[in-house]
Amino acid sequence: MGDDGFQLADSPEDALQNIFGYESFRPAQREIIDAVGEGKDQLAIMPTGSGKSLCYQLPACLLDKTVLVVSPLIALMEDQLAGLQSLDIPSTVINSNMSRRERNRRIDGMISGRFRIVYVAPERFRSDRFLEAAQSANIGLLAIDEAHCISHWGHDFRPDYLALGDVRDELDEPPVLALTATATRQVRQDILDQLGLEDAEVVIGGFERPNLFFDVHQTAGDKRKMEKAVEVLEARHGESAVVYCATRRQVEDVSQGLEDAGLVVGAYHAGLSGRRRSETQDAFMAGDLPVLVATNAFGMGVDKPDIRTIIHYNITGSLEAYYQEAGRAGRDGDPAHCLMLYDSSDRGIHDFFIENSYPEPSVVEAVWREVAREGMGRHEIGPDQIAENISRSGRGVNVHSWAVETSLKLLRKAGHLDFGWQQDRPYVEVKDRSRKRDLRVDWDRLRQQREVNEKHLDDVINYAKGKGCRQAYMLHYFGASPSFGDQCGRCDACGERAESMMHPPERGHFDDGPETVLRKALSAVARTRENAGVVTVAALLRGSESEAIQNRGFDDLSTWGALETLTQVELVDLLRHSVDRDYLRQAADGQLGLTDAGVAIMSGRESVPPNTIEWIENQFDCAAAAS
Ligand code: ADP
Ligand code: ZN
Repeated sequence: MGDDGFQLADSPEDALQNIFGYESFRPAQREIIDAVGEGKDQLAIMPTGSGKSLCYQLPACLLDKTVLVVSPLIALMEDQLAGLQSLDIPSTVINSNMSRRERNRRIDGMISGRFRIVYVAPERFRSDRFLEAAQSANIGLLAIDEAHCISHWGHDFRPDYLALGDVRDELDEPPVLALTATATRQVRQDILDQLGLEDAEVVIGGFERPNLFFDVHQTAGDKRKMEKAVEVLEARHGESAVVYCATRRQVEDVSQGLEDAGLVVGAYHAGLSGRRRSETQDAFMAGDLPVLVATNAFGMGVDKPDIRTIIHYNITGSLEAYYQEAGRAGRDGDPAHCLMLYDSSDRGIHDFFIENSYPEPSVVEAVWREVAREGMGRHEIGPDQIAENISRSGRGVNVHSWAVETSLKLLRKAGHLDFGWQQDRPYVEVKDRSRKRDLRVDWDRLRQQREVNEKHLDDVINYAKGKGCRQAYMLHYFGASPSFGDQCGRCDACGERAESMMHPPERGHFDDGPETVLRKALSAVARTRENAGVVTVAALLRGSESEAIQNRGFDDLSTWGALETLTQVELVDLLRHSVDRDYLRQAADGQLGLTDAGVAIMSGRESVPPNTIEWIENQFDCAAAAS
């Protein structure tokens, strides 16, 4: 028992089932938790919603030490805390929102080991009192959530995260678990460098989503996009769907278009009142509103498990963003369809965004010339006026007021000016007389950011225009290696159609008993001469006509289509189950082969064990077992 009277769990499984109440670990969770137990430093890269928090919460129930969690958002900490308290895991948060007395009480509690888990924001370490307390507490793990905040390359850079490398030293190097969903190489390297984690294990997990069908549809023009969206949404009538758009304006247009086509839709973007937004969101969550048309403002912290379709009406600015948004589909594990509509003109919206967020030096200089002309001191002028003056100055530079505002921010950061609004009027305060070439703007960083964003956009366009497997492309992008080899067998590029996965053929006419189901699956593996992985054998049994199957002559095998009433997902489950029960073995490269036990069952020399019969009967709607 810990000082807190908490009964430690015996094993990770014990904790998972008896404290957290989950059945099994999700991919990567177990591996990370075991490595925490071994005291290793780790960087875990897992998508949002894949269960990162459990990776540091569960060790708190195994170690007789305190887990110190650094997290950037107070609201998020409060949420997690409420969850932990409902599980009776002694935990607390220490922040500046509480009285000093309360804070000290909690700090003392941390020192005396009263809490399994303590949450803090990175700013907390600015306080010597807190740092000393953390030094004398028994910290068994330093978990750093949203670790990409440490990187300039990330979108949420937080200067206080930079101090965490020193904090780690001062705490005498407890094991560190840094977690993030952001996977770009630069960010990843930055996290390792800044935290001083040279020998950390990098675990990339949870990116594979076997129940999602990734699909890209190239269109020429908006009319075609609308037709395709209507077609897909009508086919999935009555089920939850999200249509993501790039701008507020597009949300309005698209929701109007879908309504005109007779669909019931709601619109969601940051320009709507908070009340409208929460009403729309509530209706969607409750299932009263099937289709939501939204900007990326929708989704943070939304956990609706049964979203069956996610359409991107426009490409996203990065594949991270795409995977995160598309990944909100099918959280319940049932098949779901992720469709990206791509038109070559889509790039323009993002180019416009990049141009205005990371302006060219000439634009920043033009803005400076325009405000410097006014002389030192405060002037009543704002972005709109400045943009207009520049355009009118006849130098051929045309800038949007958005780019002007970004330029003003850069100039303010460099100390040349201040700007803002006072009583509804804009002002700029010129603070020095620098000439153009003396501006202290960090041009290199500006250029790098621009390039990174352009690269991200190129990656998305390559994905959309690509001919290879969508899921494989994505996994490689995130640095993960696909378990299925190079063809997932369930994306448009693998030659499948979404309907085959979403609408399995008529069920209930399954005349075979469970023994026959298993024998057919095993003999399909035998026929491939151990030359195919789970996904391919499943496709073969289903009778897929994809290129992957035809090229290898699998459609000529007698087992082709032998289990055509089962879906891809079901067949994959059946094959994985056979691997678990040692009827099949899987080589390191994923190829399936028969074990001796498998051969004996396939040939009828051995009967199918009762627990497997039971499993198959529970999974599939088949005839009764022979016996
Ligand atoms: P992340 O931090 O990666 O975005 P969370 O840690 O918030 O994700 O987890 C997302 C959801 O998954 C939560 O509702 C959590 O309870 C659930 N979850 C986590 N691990 C498991 C598991 N092993 N089995 C079932 N549900 C889990
Ligand atoms: Zn594929």
